[in-house]
Amino acid sequence: MICAHSCPVGKLGAKDTGGMSVYVRELARELARCGHAVDVYTRVHDPNDAQIIPLGDDARLIHLRAGEDSVIDKLDVFPHLPEFTRQLESFRKQNNLHYDLIYSHYWLSGWVGKQLQRRWDVPHLIMFHTLGALKNAIGIGEGEPWIRVETEKYLARSCHRVIVATEKEKRDIAFYYGTPEASIAVIPCGVNLELFRPYQKEKARQQLGLDGKDRTILFVGRIDPLKGIDKLLAALALIGIRDRLRLFIIGGDENSRREIERLKKLSRDLRIQELVTFLGLIKQTELPVYYNAADLCVVPSYYESFGLVALESLACGTPVVTTRVGGAESIIRQGDMGYVVDSNNPAQLAQKMELLLTRPEDNGRQAGAMRALAEKFSWSNVARKLTRECRAVRKSYFA
Ligand code: UDP
Repeated sequence: MICAHSCPVGKLGAKDTGGMSVYVRELARELARCGHAVDVYTRVHDPNDAQIIPLGDDARLIHLRAGEDSVIDKLDVFPHLPEFTRQLESFRKQNNLHYDLIYSHYWLSGWVGKQLQRRWDVPHLIMFHTLGALKNAIGIGEGEPWIRVETEKYLARSCHRVIVATEKEKRDIAFYYGTPEASIAVIPCGVNLELFRPYQKEKARQQLGLDGKDRTILFVGRIDPLKGIDKLLAALALIGIRDRLRLFIIGGDENSRREIERLKKLSRDLRIQELVTFLGLIKQTELPVYYNAADLCVVPSYYESFGLVALESLACGTPVVTTRVGGAESIIRQGDMGYVVDSNNPAQLAQKMELLLTRPEDNGRQAGAMRALAEKFSWSNVARKLTRECRAVRKSYFA
């Protein structure tokens, strides 16, 4: 697997490190558990990075030097890709490795995968995670450069399989890049069901020093304009019952400082600053207590490729209010598990948030239903489906 720009063991919730890193790490582990050997290549992001980090049974992460030994902007990685490719090939030769298949993540890695695919004469699969053309069509945040859109288009037409997480993404790729539908496989993402599990809400609240009567709303994710956090703040300001209302915003590092400042200013302008706490990055292993303590989790995004956060919340038995994005729209059973709203219009979000905040105490039935649903999305299922796809691709490639 190639994941050049973002480290699969990097700090989740940082500017460019989120769902894709979780996907690569969890999938590599699970494939190894099933008996496959997996090498994941990424760029050195920190001079202290060990060159090789074991990820699981027969899965490892390999750091290659290309560009500065620090976190650099995604786009600035592009000029270093030829060097990254050379380093990868030289590591492979030195260690006498032979790969059966390449699976690239994001367009930057797809560029590398394409060079190696030609040289090694093996099939190349790609997952884009987000689409530049679609982001530009939405028009929130910085515009995506033509080099990204053109490279994605080229890869979407020339890779042997494009893996997507939802049917909607399949339609988007066919629409924006003209990929034949037969070359696209839909494999929904997974959730770590051992880590994300329900436990007693009261205990979770105590652990966080919350009062049992606090009404707690949670946001988890990278702090990016596409996540629609400003709309969530505007929705919070519309909620009538202010007493003991709390919103926790988890995510964001020093590279997200400007956006966090903008959101803090907005909270002050809306006069809700006392209700909102920006917690910054929280280690994923510590997130379950937050999901469990919360009354609901909100995903106010303009765009998600899949959106792991909604699934993590459901796995903990906590309902979700989400816009019609990613996997959640087809997963969530309205009312029982939360609500899917058509857009992140603050009034729509606020109405559904209020419904969940004022609903009668769950006697465990609803949490159980959410958990049962999340259990269908194990990483072992993802690995099984991907293996099946890889076999089919290899069969037709070598036919
Ligand atoms: N995450 C985390 N700590 C944080 C913020 C986020 O561990 O402080 C994780 C979260 O658990 C989830 C991922 O980052 O697994 C975000 O993935 P998602 O698919 O929701 O969003 P993306 O990053 O792909 O936009």
